[in-house]
Amino acid sequence: MRIPENKIEEIRAEANIVDVISEFVQLRKRGKNFLGLCPFHNEKTPSFTVSEDKQIFHCFGCHAGGNVYKFLMDYEKISFVEAVQEIASRVGISIEVDDESSSEWQSEQEILYDINTVVAKYFSDNLLMKKEGEIAQNYFHNRKIKIQTMRTFGLGYALPGRDVLVDFLKSRKIDFNKSLALGLIGSGNDGRLYDKFSGRIIFPIFSPNGRVVAFAGRVFNEKEGTAKYLNSPESSIYTKGRIFYGLSHAKDEIRKLDRVILVEGYMDLISLYQGGIKNVVAVSGTALTEDQATLLSRYTKNVVLLFDADTAGIKASMRSIEILLKRDMEIKIASLPKGEDPDSFIHNFGKDKFEEIIKRSVNFIEYQSSYYESQGMFEDVSKTAEAIRELVKPIALIKDELKRNLLLKSIAKKFNLREKLLEVELEKAINQAGKQLTAEERTKFREQAKEGSVVTEQPSKKASPAAYNLEREIIKLLFEGDKEIIEFIAAHIQPEEFLINAHSKIAETVYESCSKGDDIIAGALVEKINDEELQSYILELTFEKYQTSKKWEEIYPGIPHEKILNKIVRDTIKKFKTSLIEGQIAANHRKISSAETESEKVELMRENLDLERSKQKLKDELKTEEEFL
Ligand SMILES: [Zn+2]
Repeated sequence: MRIPENKIEEIRAEANIVDVISEFVQLRKRGKNFLGLCPFHNEKTPSFTVSEDKQIFHCFGCHAGGNVYKFLMDYEKISFVEAVQEIASRVGISIEVDDESSSEWQSEQEILYDINTVVAKYFSDNLLMKKEGEIAQNYFHNRKIKIQTMRTFGLGYALPGRDVLVDFLKSRKIDFNKSLALGLIGSGNDGRLYDKFSGRIIFPIFSPNGRVVAFAGRVFNEKEGTAKYLNSPESSIYTKGRIFYGLSHAKDEIRKLDRVILVEGYMDLISLYQGGIKNVVAVSGTALTEDQATLLSRYTKNVVLLFDADTAGIKASMRSIEILLKRDMEIKIASLPKGEDPDSFIHNFGKDKFEEIIKRSVNFIEYQSSYYESQGMFEDVSKTAEAIRELVKPIALIKDELKRNLLLKSIAKKFNLREKLLEVELEKAINQAGKQLTAEERTKFREQAKEGSVVTEQPSKKASPAAYNLEREIIKLLFEGDKEIIEFIAAHIQPEEFLINAHSKIAETVYESCSKGDDIIAGALVEKINDEELQSYILELTFEKYQTSKKWEEIYPGIPHEKILNKIVRDTIKKFKTSLIEGQIAANHRKISSAETESEKVELMRENLDLERSKQKLKDELKTEEEFL
């Protein structure tokens, strides 16, 4: 079913988020906001905040957040459409079901999600209901997977044949071009369409919200010349390094237990889940990425790595440790007896024994040192020195100095070394990590500017934190729900002028909504931003306490909030634009010193003169002091 966008907005505007959430969570008024115990994670002091002005909620503990629809989806575990229907019936608005022709109401991404949902259902039916599916079902039975588990994870089967799925898509009038983009079908040299996953068992890959973003297909009756695994290509709804297999199933339990277990394979995760261990996600073939670590850190800071004990697994563990340490995660490493993997272990020994293994997990220093020990590196002096350098390296990645010192002490004690010696090594490692980090972050920053991926943390000093903070301030102001402010900012800053691409994207969306006369409160705006990460970035930003305004209110007592806000807007824009101009002037100066001809120099100087003038003009235009005096 499709609900037109304006209807979705109309229904949302009729409902008050405070009333809806109050039915499930006890809320108390605290200042402008409402506060309560978070229903999405275990807590004793309330950090779950609801804003009536902005019609959004946000938890400072587990970072759950969104508008009223998002709350119902997460709380009642229902789909978006169901959440809209539920609110509609509460506020007494009837929704008419639209026919197929109204697809222009639906965003491109929604259509892709829909196609994947229909196809996932089709694959699942093949496995569970069709005679031809028995062969695949037997495979799962042999691996001790129950029917209910197959349903829970939407497991499926792509019937063998060249164009079985193609025919199905045709019968459902599903767009071939979109199916090609999703990698469900391919197009041969002769232009004929064919099934991509033919004859494979299917694991749908879900977004943290539980929507099907991709598929993984696996060969189960080994055929020659076929790859064992086949994954959907990246699409506008699927970015490989940003999804964890199983997160949508595991997230509640991860929050509840405040711990996540990281495994390698799909089957590991599914078997553990069936065995009652539900706080598990799988990295699924690829190495853990920085984006995945960021995503995970939203749910918990405590990670247990449970990778295979083979060389590849150890390598993966070592690399993951570094990535997770940079995100300030607490890392433990668990290991299974030789010859077991999580899948076999849980079937052979059960939940209690598995939990013991997790309890016996060791910290990364112990893990790494016993690995080096097993490699014989503590047998001669030169190798020992190398091993210790390797041990100190990851510690350099930890931001917390106290934590670093504690770990250093534990190494010193374990190997009976002088702490001073280790401190020198650490110093070296920190310097090197610092160099690496900035280089890495610089590339990341450049990539983000190019691709427009989300900025979740402050870029390095080299990338000018001042400019970054000013941008954040301006983006924050866009979510004040004030039309005049948005128009004022839009008149002075073009979306593409923001240095960070995510900010450009956000500004563009807000400007557009504002000029169309749409609702511009945060609760309405987040709905228009399709990227989940971008959404939670905005929520965190808008709920940041408005420190500046507080300060101004102290400096100018008795002056109304709007007026102060107005001053902040002008000041922030002024600072931001000035920093852009100054950056240009500095760049020109550098060019002048390396310019080859006099005329080139003169041209650049003239340009700088113009820039100086526009800087002055900006100052005059955005002057505010008098209004206050
Ligand atoms: Zn929470």
